[in-house]
Amino acid sequence: MKKRIVILGSGESGTGAALLAKHLGYDVFVSDSGAIKDRYKKELDAQGIAWEENRHTPDAILNAAEIIKSPGIPEKSEVMQAVRAKGINVIGEIEFGWRHAGKCSIVAITGSNGKTTTTELTFHLMKAAGLPVRMGGNIGNSFARMALDDIRAGKTKDATRVFVLEVSSFQLDDIQQFRPKIAVLLNITPDHLDRYDYKLENYAQAKFRITMNQKRGDVFIFNGFDPVIAGQPMQAAGPKRIAIRRGFYKNGRINIGRSHAFDMTKGNLRGPHNMFNAVCAIRASLLLGADPLKVQDGLNTFVPPPHRLERVAVKNGVTWINDSKATNVDSVFYALQAMETPTVWIVGGQDKGNDYTPLFPWVKKKVKGIVCMGLDNSKIVSAFKDLKKHMIETKSMADAVNAAAKWATAGDTVLLSPACASFDLFKNYEDRGEQFRQAVQNLKH
Ligand code: ADP
Repeated sequence: MKKRIVILGSGESGTGAALLAKHLGYDVFVSDSGAIKDRYKKELDAQGIAWEENRHTPDAILNAAEIIKSPGIPEKSEVMQAVRAKGINVIGEIEFGWRHAGKCSIVAITGSNGKTTTTELTFHLMKAAGLPVRMGGNIGNSFARMALDDIRAGKTKDATRVFVLEVSSFQLDDIQQFRPKIAVLLNITPDHLDRYDYKLENYAQAKFRITMNQKRGDVFIFNGFDPVIAGQPMQAAGPKRIAIRRGFYKNGRINIGRSHAFDMTKGNLRGPHNMFNAVCAIRASLLLGADPLKVQDGLNTFVPPPHRLERVAVKNGVTWINDSKATNVDSVFYALQAMETPTVWIVGGQDKGNDYTPLFPWVKKKVKGIVCMGLDNSKIVSAFKDLKKHMIETKSMADAVNAAAKWATAGDTVLLSPACASFDLFKNYEDRGEQFRQAVQNLKH
């Protein structure tokens, strides 16, 4: 029997890792402190993989030769402290996938905001260009699951394969050798600081792990005007560095050096932040040999993921925009910046220790009314009261949308961009966005 691998957490990443480990012949055990979804249980059972739920049994875990940990489990948890005390090697599923994926090019994308949009766009552009590309990681299929598919299909020696992976800082915490051919770091702004001892520096270092194993021949694409990124030391040797600097976007075009200009007016991406996401995606695609004309086709046909500056309706001349995924201050900063008409802004939810000061200039300039929506709106009220905008407090989506409809007149925009987590009133950000869409549809006029 090969060594024992214990997998902590059985969501998509844990299940993917378990299936791969079992296929490789390891003695596999899966342990989840919560309930395991039925579809994952079925997959584990079908392969004869032992599992437990709603508990972590120390005797079944601490005899592991190696632990694969779900990114959701904090180091502070009891189980991780016991694992660390025993000195067992801990990796994440991305690392495990990397060990077994074989020859391929990995494009890994991280950042505080824009990961999903940029990952989906990069995948779309590469697909439009005919590259044999797949997408996963923090969205959709886990990397381990995709690696397993290729092992089964006997494709691991096919070096033309491309994986575009969205990678979170938590996933980066648990890599050791993971080495993307192209690493993309979009931005670093305060988020998830509760997992990093409330130190931006620790969070920034986690994000930089995306490039730590890169070598000559690899490429590191990063935001060249992000002050936190600028403050981090770069590897002296190692990958080619491409800093995206301001000025790449002019008159509706993204310019790459002197040779390529991409028309951004025909597609569905809006706002300067999305132009930035696009320049990263285009760069990555060209580096892997995509034909610029095909990349342009991809830009024209890309449909951004929902709940990110998504236009859900135009009613009586008022445009309604769902940006429910904006769960931190920085993403709202870009949303407000992208507004082109007077805006009624719906904001609030579960506060994550927000500092709203960076938003003041945009609120002054663009916002005609603030609709607070949350169980406790006091922090938002006190942050913005001195700006002397119309302000109202609501505690449900229906009330918020009705209040916004009263203030918005033809030519205005209503923007749901909460800056907060959704869990006080909603299941998650998708639920919040769907309730917004429904409430807008239900409006009488
Ligand atoms: P992530 O996967 O990193 O959470 P998303 O693509 O889901 O990123 O976008 C999350 C939020 O951030 C949305 O409100 C979106 O409009 C905004 N956003 C997208 N790209 C950027 C960017 N480059 N900079 C700042 N905000 C962004």
